[in-house]
Amino acid sequence: MNYTFLPRTWARIDLDALTHNYQVIRKRLHPGTRMMAVVKADAYGHGVKYVAPLLDRLGAEQFAVSNIEEAMQLRALSIKKPILILGYTPPYLAKTLAQHEISQTVFDSEYAAALSRHAAADGVTVRMHIKIDTGMGRLGFIHHDLQDCDAIEQIRSICKLPGLAREGIFTHFASSDLDGDQDGSFTRRQFDLFCDVIDRLKQDGITFCLRHCCNSAATLRNPEMQLDMVRPGIILYGMEPSSALRNVADLRPAMTLQSVISMVKDLHPGDSVSYGRTYTAQHEIRAATIPIGYADGYPRSLSNNGYILIRGQKAPIIGRVCMDQTVVDVTGIPKVKEGDEVLLFGSDANGTLPVEEYSALCGTVNYETVCLVGKRVPRIYYENGRQAGQLNYVYNARL
Ligand SMILES: *Cc1c(COP(=O)(O)O)cnc(C)c1O
Repeated sequence: MNYTFLPRTWARIDLDALTHNYQVIRKRLHPGTRMMAVVKADAYGHGVKYVAPLLDRLGAEQFAVSNIEEAMQLRALSIKKPILILGYTPPYLAKTLAQHEISQTVFDSEYAAALSRHAAADGVTVRMHIKIDTGMGRLGFIHHDLQDCDAIEQIRSICKLPGLAREGIFTHFASSDLDGDQDGSFTRRQFDLFCDVIDRLKQDGITFCLRHCCNSAATLRNPEMQLDMVRPGIILYGMEPSSALRNVADLRPAMTLQSVISMVKDLHPGDSVSYGRTYTAQHEIRAATIPIGYADGYPRSLSNNGYILIRGQKAPIIGRVCMDQTVVDVTGIPKVKEGDEVLLFGSDANGTLPVEEYSALCGTVNYETVCLVGKRVPRIYYENGRQAGQLNYVYNARL
């Protein structure tokens, strides 16, 4: 077998799927609505080094990340477009933000004052997007009631601060994926509160070029809420924001997690498997060891619980998932041997184990699953059916 990468455990990333998903989303946007591609957390584990330049080429107008290191990583990848940091940046980094033209989320008066002080002292201007908390309860000027004036007054005064340039205003939906909001009424209320802030600031002559609130779920469900820009994340990678949004768009999952068989052996009644001896063979079985464990992001919660696919057939996990290895029962799957490829989630030529089904077995959601694929797992990229590159976080040379 000839591999251009180490055939131990790897994540296959389908760049054609990413392109397809980008185009599906773009078709749903009103003319003029911008797309801010959310590429935080290493592009949801897909490898921002390959994902961001592709989305840049496809025409994404802006990028969103969670912190300044991720923003600087994009600049180092020669991404010249606007970048917004959605989370916290220590205010003393005002100069770095300004120099690299990175926009910062400003979420309360105290933070605005500190950022302004540092920017003014360094003689720079930081671009800001003001965040409104309309019900997420995380970051943002709190506006939970149409009667309230606090947020409006505070924003009015921070807009006068030196060293800060007003660029955008946004909010984030808590349940646009319908979890805890079956009829979408909470999202609608958040949207109304957000529009209320925008309208009242406008009456004071304070306007924003970039008003945005739609995450993936709202981008698909609420086209009337697109405003100037949308912030899709999970759907770019081809996954559904929640089970309630299954099949609302023709998305293609971009990531598949694969591994190989390292050893096959026969176990006899009474033989136990792995730490803690939580599995004991009741009859003759054939077991296979796979070189993947929780250090690769293969969660221990799958112990005696999940399964993998070998040539499309289910092989249940037996015993505990270890740091580097996992054992599966391959009884009844013919001719299993060392070196055979196996599927942990995603699709191969013989079958599919949807990341959502896998995540449910782990007690989590697709978002966490892809983010947790370990940095020990190389990402192998495919485009036009051909390998187009690879990303090795540990050892970056050909073996
Ligand atoms: C992560 C994030 C998004 C993207 O969310 P998806 O559900 O993946 O589309 C959008 N906006 C903010 C503020 C976020 O933190």
